[in-house]
Amino acid sequence: MAAEHVEALLVTHLPDVRWLCGFTGSNAAVGVTPRSAALFTDGRYTTQASEETQGARVVVAKKSALMEACAWLDKAARRAWFDPQHTSVAELELMRSAIGGRKRHHFFAPLKSPLVPKLRMVKDPAELRVIGQAAQVGCTVFEEILSRMETGLAEIAVAAELEFLARGMGAEGMSFETIIASGPRSALPHGRATQAKLPRKGFVTLDFGVILNGYCSDMTRTVHLGSASREERFAYESVLAAQEAAVAAVKPGVTCGEVDEAARSVLRKAGLAKYFTHSTGHGVGLEIHEQPRLAAGQEMPLESGMVVTIEPGVYLPGKFGIRIEDMVAVTNSGGQVLTPVTKGWIEL
Ligand code: ZN
Ligand code: ZN
Repeated sequence: MAAEHVEALLVTHLPDVRWLCGFTGSNAAVGVTPRSAALFTDGRYTTQASEETQGARVVVAKKSALMEACAWLDKAARRAWFDPQHTSVAELELMRSAIGGRKRHHFFAPLKSPLVPKLRMVKDPAELRVIGQAAQVGCTVFEEILSRMETGLAEIAVAAELEFLARGMGAEGMSFETIIASGPRSALPHGRATQAKLPRKGFVTLDFGVILNGYCSDMTRTVHLGSASREERFAYESVLAAQEAAVAAVKPGVTCGEVDEAARSVLRKAGLAKYFTHSTGHGVGLEIHEQPRLAAGQEMPLESGMVVTIEPGVYLPGKFGIRIEDMVAVTNSGGQVLTPVTKGWIEL
């Protein structure tokens, strides 16, 4: 805060709140000044807040947690900053209404770049351990689901089995809606599981993640049912080579754009770059999509302790699609793959 000349900070984005003080409830606002911090929540969370919260005083608000946090900041500071990416117009109005007199018009200022998400990018050893465990659950689920996939089974049924397995292994939930995209639907990068039946011949993309102790995992594997054409086989080997090149590029100091380019250049040489229609990866942690973004031109350098996904793919509309995604922790000397389950060609 001092470095960014932020006199006081209002934090309302729940993953930021959790990261700062441990509170996991669904209604919270944290006020931070150089001298003190306070968590505001409501009566439903009286017990939970006092059990979970560390490093901040707990205040159970009588009416609005957000407004009481603002009133607290009003007393403690001349100005306060907030994250505009996670503040609605209605919330900002409410925040202003809690500030006294003339001060209210210029009291709140939007942060130019979010402070807490930047801190959350670099994980500490305890976070890395939990993320590693979540990733491991994902790998085990994938190995188990392989033997249960067969022609004629609905994508939704595959998703159901997969999520049941994950829950049985301790998952609190899924990181996002499970993607099971089969046959021509695999050409949809975000093809959520539908009633479509797994084909006799064709790709099936499985993209899923579990939540363990609040932390997300994220992985993708693409398998083939029946025998593949040469085109399918070539595309798969190309995506795999691109994915492995990007994983190998992960190292502290390398920019996110350079990692993206490592994957993209392989697909360019294979003549498939025009079918790679999204970025190479993203940070993962308390949220499924966090900073940094691994995309073309991104100049942010990787740092030891970041956890990112590497997930190039190609999507040939109406035909097929392939994506391979690992989670990689940036170490002092390179990258450690947290999802080491096989990504070689699998034909079921
Ligand atoms: Zn994914
Ligand atoms: Zn992902």
